[in-house]
Amino acid sequence: MGYVDEVLEKVSKKNEGQPEFLQAVTEVLESLRPVVEANEELYRKEAVLERITEPDRQIMFRVPWVDDNGQVQVNRGFRVQFNNAIGPYKGGLRLHPSVNLSIIKFLGFEQVFKNSLTSLPIGGGKGGSDFDPKGKSDREIMAFCQSFMTELYKYIGADMDVPAGDIGVGGREIGYLFGQYKRIRGTYEGVLTGKGLTYGGSLARTEATGYGLLYFTEEMLKSNGQDIAGKTICVSGAGNVAIYAIQKAQQLGAKVVTCSDSTGWIYDPEGIDVALLKEVKEVKRARLTEYAAKRPSAQYHEGRGVWTIKCDVALPCATQNELLIDDAKALVANGVIAVAEGANMPTTLEATKYLQENGVLFAPGKASNAGGVATSALEMSQNSERLSWTFEEVDSKLKNIMVNIFHNLDDASKKYGKEGDYVAGANIAGFEKVVNAMVAQGV
Ligand code: GLU
Repeated sequence: MGYVDEVLEKVSKKNEGQPEFLQAVTEVLESLRPVVEANEELYRKEAVLERITEPDRQIMFRVPWVDDNGQVQVNRGFRVQFNNAIGPYKGGLRLHPSVNLSIIKFLGFEQVFKNSLTSLPIGGGKGGSDFDPKGKSDREIMAFCQSFMTELYKYIGADMDVPAGDIGVGGREIGYLFGQYKRIRGTYEGVLTGKGLTYGGSLARTEATGYGLLYFTEEMLKSNGQDIAGKTICVSGAGNVAIYAIQKAQQLGAKVVTCSDSTGWIYDPEGIDVALLKEVKEVKRARLTEYAAKRPSAQYHEGRGVWTIKCDVALPCATQNELLIDDAKALVANGVIAVAEGANMPTTLEATKYLQENGVLFAPGKASNAGGVATSALEMSQNSERLSWTFEEVDSKLKNIMVNIFHNLDDASKKYGKEGDYVAGANIAGFEKVVNAMVAQGV
């Protein structure tokens, strides 16, 4: 049995009952076969694959907080510090009722490769809680964030581990978390990214994941003889990634006709009205029914269905495993050219394979959504030098980073005879850098 298969078997045994983590590991290891075969002796001796699939540490803790009725609630908190071979652990915090160890581990594992691809010095980690922010008051959110940080502060620091946002964690939550860290530690340091602009945040961080997704998609299309201008795009999600992906797509001359939230989806053939979407989602924190009520051209549907709409480009920006095999079939039948992931692992393994086999350009999230964490690293740089860069400076660095990521993975896919397989390219390019650093640093 080859080294990849041996390790896949060991990892499956060691992580039973963790489907999302095993899905992410399978995707990565399968696509690393050519590199592993070329370096088998060294990698086996160094146990490179065993080491890269086992987190440095996994922290789990109780998060007690008091709700508005005076009732104590208890949630579970997580921080998985996956790998710090090339820099301090870096990755978001997710607050969603679905959060468990498997989900945080899959996200942390993906983050290792993603962060490596950015070319910036950041390792990989992820955290979060099964706390559900939906319907909670500001005071309840603050109480939860303060309790969460009262435990988390022991494990993080500007040169150790730098969390940020993810699903359910935006500027408001980062503010409460940062305040509590500062109160406990008494140090004013860049321990979190995605901070408010008045206290160490970076311009363009809010826009970065969505904008970066479009810069990447534009470059991928360009290098395949296509222009993003004039394309029809389907987006899923209506959170931070989706909103700024829609905005940038429109700036680049494309038309975005869909978005979705946890209860339903919008088809707006005239193109999504970003200002209205921002008002509904960012200001009012309301449902998409409110968007539909104010927009005569929009149709609202319950449930899921974004991928049934005909489009040239699909950008899944909601959550993991939201683009399934039947969705992939519908997209292909409707002539889709490209799928670029804005969320982390939104496409199942089966759907990914189907899209690739049918000639669709497929960009994995660890490459195409890396703009968020890359800009977080730029926020860390600005915090270290105690300066703030202009929006244009950050945005142009972001664009360069995304264009470079595309060419790095395109080159890596060609080098190992996998031309056009951007999944393999991203995994190989991200992996090689981390492995070199791990081997150089010994055990
Ligand atoms: N949660 C984002 C991601 O999945 C951003 C992480 C960060 O900025 O540290 O990459």
